[in-house]
Formats: sequence, structure tokens, C-alpha cells
Amino acid sequence: MKNANIKSDFDPILVEFYNSTIKVNTCPYCNSSSFYRHGKYKFTYRYKCRECKKTFIPSTGTSIHYLKKKKVFLDYAEILKADGILTLRKMCKRVGIAPLTAFDWRHKILASVSYNDKSLGEEALCKDVWILYSLKGRKGVRFDNKMFIKNLKDLDKKTSKLVAADGNSGYSIKLSKVGSLEVSDIKRVLEMKIKGTRRIITTENNIFNDFAQNLKIEHKKIKSEFIKPKELRLRNFFSFNEDFRHWINNSLRGVATKYIQLYANFYSYCRKKIFDPLSRSVFMKKYVWRIFTSMENIYKSFLTNYSEIAYTAPIKRYWKTSGIYFIESDKVPY
Ligand SMILES: [Zn+2]
Repeated sequence: MKNANIKSDFDPILVEFYNSTIKVNTCPYCNSSSFYRHGKYKFTYRYKCRECKKTFIPSTGTSIHYLKKKKVFLDYAEILKADGILTLRKMCKRVGIAPLTAFDWRHKILASVSYNDKSLGEEALCKDVWILYSLKGRKGVRFDNKMFIKNLKDLDKKTSKLVAADGNSGYSIKLSKVGSLEVSDIKRVLEMKIKGTRRIITTENNIFNDFAQNLKIEHKKIKSEFIKPKELRLRNFFSFNEDFRHWINNSLRGVATKYIQLYANFYSYCRKKIFDPLSRSVFMKKYVWRIFTSMENIYKSFLTNYSEIAYTAPIKRYWKTSGIYFIESDKVPY
């Protein structure tokens, strides 16, 4: 039984978690692999970087960085692993935390899943997936989708366009633009993945036609209603896209555009294997805190660069340590 006198930080489960799961390979500040042990910190060790001279502990920069209730976070992560993403209200009840904490923890966990940027191989399935632009959670924004969309042209402008693809490396979906999709938007998202691809398959869609022409690759158009039952890969691809939209719009009752890529990464990952937020690979990612605290800026620059909608109603939460952690540019969600 847990001894009530033991400080929560010294919970044996937590100590075991630090010992067996969290490893240190690089400095979370400058990414140098030159560091050494620099004394003890509670139940773990402190390290010091030879390059930037900063000190850190194994969990610095990860999803449990700065958390006071680390053990409760492990419980939260176990629930997410077993039951998927539950509503914030349910999570608050089950682990006894405040709504903002439940919201933050969910996004910290999601931020530890990266976009699948691996090559699609010789043949790839591609499709654009539309999700209404959402300002959910922004203070002072009264938002009604029906009021917001007046006609089809309007719908095109005020919808987030995600580009879904499937090939040898599995399914992936990435936010590309808020507004009318152009060849350059698809190129930006798929260029790395599509090297070596000779043929793309899409449902009849002009923009992918232009995209294929632009890259000088073959383009096969199919009608989704003519996909044969045995064409499992094709059927799965289209059902994944529909399933993703349904999950965002119905199960989660909408997701703010700011966070949509975090959910997209999580969704793509879960299509391949079960997500384990307490696995070692998750805690090798020391840039989760950096992503979590920079989301507003990442979102702002995305809208400024790739959207037909202006950035409005800024969220003014601020973390003064946000910028000091290392992140590779390809790990930034979008
Ligand atoms: Zn360093």
C-alpha cells in the first residue's frame, strides 16, 4: 500500500518509471550528446551539458516536465492508452484534476507523436480531407459554423485542408492550408514523402491532377463507389479519412484548428499500432514541452503563411522557458 507520508514525487511507481523508461541521450537545450552526471535530484540524477553548461534531469523537456503531480499524469496516460481520448469532463472525474490541466496534459501527450514523414513508395493514395476551420476555446469568440459559412465558395475558404496519403510507410494526414488548396500546398506537405513515387491514385480531383502533372508522375483516378470489396487498401484509405473527420467532428465535438495536427498525428499513429504515451520512445522526445508551449506561435505563423483567414483572438498564456529547448524544424507540427 502507498504510504501517505511519502511525498508523491517518491511514489515507487514513479521511481521505477524514471529508472526503467526515461533515458538521456542528448541535452534538451542544445541537443549536444556531451553531458555528465551532476549530482542527484530527488530520486533521479541531474546532468550537466558540456556545450551549453545547463543542467537538466531525465524528464526535462518531455510531457512530464515541470509537473507537480507526475504520478497522476502516469494514471492519465494509462487511461488514454487504454480508452483513447475521452472528453475532458470524464478525464477530470477519473483522475481528479482541473479542466485546464486535463486539456494541457492531453496536448502534451499528443505533442509527443510526430508526423509520419517516411517515403510512400512507388504507388501512393492521396486525398484532401476537409474540416471546418475552428476557433474553439478562444475567449470572446462566438462561433457558429452555420452563420460562418454562407455558400460553397465560402466553405472552401473557411475549411482546413488536410492532405491524407497512404503507401508503404502507412497512412498519414497533414494540415496543409486553411482555404482553397493549391498545388504548392500539396507539394509542401508531400514533397519529402513522394520522392520515388511513380504513380498516385486519387478519387477524381483536379488539384491532384495538377499536382501529378507538376511532378511528372502518373495519376490514376478512381470513383470511390467503384472500389471493389477486395481492394482493401483503397477501401481502408477512404474509410480512414471519413473516420478521422467523424472522430474530430462528432466524438471530440470539434477541435480547434490550432491543435488539429496534433490530433492528426495521433490518429495516423493509432492506425498502425497502439499508442503508448508511457513508452521509452515517447520520453526520448525532449521537445514536447517546446511544442506544447509554442503552439500559439506555430499556429499564428501557419495562418499567416498558409491561410486565407486572419489570425485573431490571440491566447495570451505565456511560458518564459518556451524558447530555450531544442527542436528540429521537421518536428514542428506544421
Ligand atoms: Zn546543452
